[in-house]
Amino acid sequence: MRRQIDLTGDVAEILLTEDQIQGRVAELGRRISEDYAGQELTLVSVLKGSLPFMADLMRTITIPVRIDLMEVSSYGGTATESSGLVRILKDLSSSIAGADVLIVEDIIDTGLTLNYLIRYLRGKNPRSLRICTLLDKPARRLVEIPVDYLGFSIPDRFVVGYGLDYGEIYRNLRFVGVLRPEVYAD
Ligand code: 5GP
Repeated sequence: MRRQIDLTGDVAEILLTEDQIQGRVAELGRRISEDYAGQELTLVSVLKGSLPFMADLMRTITIPVRIDLMEVSSYGGTATESSGLVRILKDLSSSIAGADVLIVEDIIDTGLTLNYLIRYLRGKNPRSLRICTLLDKPARRLVEIPVDYLGFSIPDRFVVGYGLDYGEIYRNLRFVGVLRPEVYAD
């Protein structure tokens, strides 16, 4: 029989509290606003995991921003392992040629997804292209990614919450945590 999902009860450990996340997001927003002062910035977020981060981050930025959304899926992997094969499910809605672009990501693990995305977006001739990620798991990096704005470096564990899912669930948790082993075993 399928196990009943218990949104918060399935969480074994909280790695980052709501307060920690919100404090860090505000700091990132301040730095980004300073670094791009006098400019307009295009935030490109990658659905679906980056949605809460994007929504919170953009409201801490005090310069004019445009936003655009892409959705990519990596395929050929498993529920907790990415494969590096990336398919674009939703492309940008507007041109980014000549724009200052900041990619807003939820997490960098192997780096394969972002590596693909960076090359793809560079091909669209933005004036500048930088990277902001809430979470980084440096232990598993396979390709080097130049991260300009980092929220938190975390250990090599599969995390959920604040946008991140396991089987499409747990994205609406306000913190980042690790699930009980029996949940992953299902
Ligand atoms: P990468 O290509 O860097 O290995 O993986 C990037 C994507 O894999 C992320 O955007 C995210 O969707 C997924 N991912 C990597 N690590 C985690 C994790 O710990 N938890 C969840 N929920 N997704 C992850």
